[in-house]
Amino acid sequence: MGRKGLLVVISAPSGGGKTTVIRRVLASGNDNFTYSISATTRRLRAGEVDGQDYHFLSLEEFNHKKEKGEFVEWAEVHGNYYATPRTPIQKWLNEGRTVLLDLDVNGGLEVKKDFKDSALLIFIKPPSVESLVHRLKGRKTETQAEIDKRLTRVPEEMSKSHQYQYRILNEDLDITTTEVLKVIKNHNHRD
Ligand code: ADP
Ligand code: 5GP
Repeated sequence: MGRKGLLVVISAPSGGGKTTVIRRVLASGNDNFTYSISATTRRLRAGEVDGQDYHFLSLEEFNHKKEKGEFVEWAEVHGNYYATPRTPIQKWLNEGRTVLLDLDVNGGLEVKKDFKDSALLIFIKPPSVESLVHRLKGRKTETQAEIDKRLTRVPEEMSKSHQYQYRILNEDLDITTTEVLKVIKNHNHRD
């Protein structure tokens, strides 16, 4: 009997640690894990690689793909567009893979609605708003104006996080990564 695939959605307010935690989970050595690379219209950040961190698209390219039904879900976040490509998701689920997705809360809830038991929603909680600001500044990839824009979404992300199946505090990165791995493992062995 084939093993069922799982979509693991990781959400958090900007600077909450999604990217870092996902990288650590992927590096944990489980080769059944794979990462869903989103499409986006935002500019490439220093250190990011096209086709690895995101598929960076023009607004025209993004809209064309959206109209052709190539996305599982899409959202506007902080003035940019983001979306999950459909073809790889379908393939990985059929192969029984555990797919990690870095999505905003609306995208996560959309995926849950569509994929039901095949989706697991995990929210990474920052210890405080102060720690978020500190981490975002420390990342040095956004201007102050961009940071301010990101912070305006914190209340929406936090309030919708109550609809997530798990909420994990990201204080210590090692502990957070272990917790996420444990939740995925328990979920995969539930039936
Ligand atoms: P997101 O992808 O949610 O926007 P990142 O993973 O880019 O967030 O994390 C934002 C910044 O905070 C990065 O510089 C990262 O190294 C740092 N960071 C993440 N988690 C922790 C933590 N538990 N303790 C200290 N710094 C952290
Ligand atoms: P960033 O620009 O910091 O990489 O991401 C900004 C926000 O967009 C984050 O909340 C991230 O989770 C979200 N995001 C990234 N890719 C997608 C996607 O494909 N769909 C949705 N809905 N949100 C995404």
